[in-house]
Amino acid sequence: MPTNSSHMPIRRTKIVATLGPASDREGVLEAMLKAGVDVVRLNFSHGSADDHRQRLTRVREIADRLGRSVAALGDLQGPKIRIARFKNGAEVLAEGQAFVLDMAMDGDAGTRERVGCDYKTLADDVTSGDRLLLDDGRLVLDVTRVVGKEIHTSVAVGGKLSNNKGINKQGGGLSAPALTDKDKADLKTAVDIGVDYLAVSFPRSAADMQEARDLLGEAGAEIGLVAKLERAEAVADNATLDGIIEASEAVMVARGDLGVEIGDAQLIGTQKRIIKQARTLNRAVITATQMMESMIESPLPTRAEVFDVANAVLDGTDAVMLSAETAAGDFPVETIEAMDRVCLGAERERVIQESGHRIHEGFSQIDETIALSAMYAANHLTGVGAIACMTASGYTPLIASRISSGLPIVGLAHNPVAQRRMALYRGVVSLPFDTSDMAANDLNDHALARLVTHGIVKPGDHVILTRGDHMNAHGGTNTLKILDVSHDHE
Ligand code: PGA
Ligand code: MN
Repeated sequence: MPTNSSHMPIRRTKIVATLGPASDREGVLEAMLKAGVDVVRLNFSHGSADDHRQRLTRVREIADRLGRSVAALGDLQGPKIRIARFKNGAEVLAEGQAFVLDMAMDGDAGTRERVGCDYKTLADDVTSGDRLLLDDGRLVLDVTRVVGKEIHTSVAVGGKLSNNKGINKQGGGLSAPALTDKDKADLKTAVDIGVDYLAVSFPRSAADMQEARDLLGEAGAEIGLVAKLERAEAVADNATLDGIIEASEAVMVARGDLGVEIGDAQLIGTQKRIIKQARTLNRAVITATQMMESMIESPLPTRAEVFDVANAVLDGTDAVMLSAETAAGDFPVETIEAMDRVCLGAERERVIQESGHRIHEGFSQIDETIALSAMYAANHLTGVGAIACMTASGYTPLIASRISSGLPIVGLAHNPVAQRRMALYRGVVSLPFDTSDMAANDLNDHALARLVTHGIVKPGDHVILTRGDHMNAHGGTNTLKILDVSHDHE
């Protein structure tokens, strides 16, 4: 396989960082972006609309100043089911003791024997023999019987249980619809403040994603929907999984909740299956949760975390995500630096520069045929420095980047929305490219010069270029050219 002839290695895997009090500290957000954040996540489970608006305003201001294209991902809370509160804030449950989840109980009156619940229909969704996992699986309750509005359980794994901790049912099967009233209000806020992607939590099927798309209405064309795969039933069979993937622009392996519902042993293969399926269906994929968890309190990751991030990179994920590490941790900038370093290290492995993507399939669209042919050419011709795609929406770079390669894929786009969309795609660098003042005959040379200016290629390199015949008729990619970079492009 020919090697990348350009100089500096460009990190291909993208970094999504959740914003919060930690990134609000003086100078931290800018340092995080400089250290390599590609996408910021605004988590609607915490904070007010104003918090999110202010954070995004600062991100855009810093990104503009740094000449970077950074996408924003709004993340809806979804029907996360939680216990209510204890009189004393927390109780310690002992293994073997009886404990009742009482739907009828006052929210603040919890004791060591029973506690309320904010999701009143939970009692209708469980029966004796079910296993409930609290606080991300730290405590385990076995349901012994359901009496009216009371779920009687026996504590299988005890421990400290504090206010508002989450509840999952092992194996899934809770009936809560994906979009709550709060989500519908937050969706409007997200549109209003101008996010690029919007994540839907706990979708059960494609229909939940479609509902979100309908609510986005006209703004939907600009906002990519991300399905968070975190319910057992969402990944239980290939038809449901494929349906959710196809109803979305991207998916997230939401390992926090998913791991609790399906168990850690199942999670390993499921992560690999989701990543592979998303790529096959031309969608982007984010791997999330507890990737650098120990860095909430420590300036260095554990070996296990290093290898977890590396494993996701080797699985082919587009992006790796940080949650509390950057939102509430003590070392947000160090965490980004560690992730950057680990991704680069993992990407050096040859195995991910080879691809069998759709090699035995027929294609139906001209633009995807061009995109995939470009990658075939780039990966097999010696001396190629980059693939450059003139694009309106970022679609051609997305398709091209579904094929593994060691070469940068450069999306040349005029529209900042398209540029930010591409921030999530593995191996894609987006550069601003306004063709309106360029003569048709000069477009290719302008493109090459732009790549040289950004240090992506140098004289002597080949560049594989894709574009439409009519320079501004985007979406019409029908041309593949192999060009040579010369000293005239410097
Ligand atoms: P959350 O989703 O952080 O919003 O819970 C991600 C996950 O469950 O992994
Ligand atoms: Mn979750």
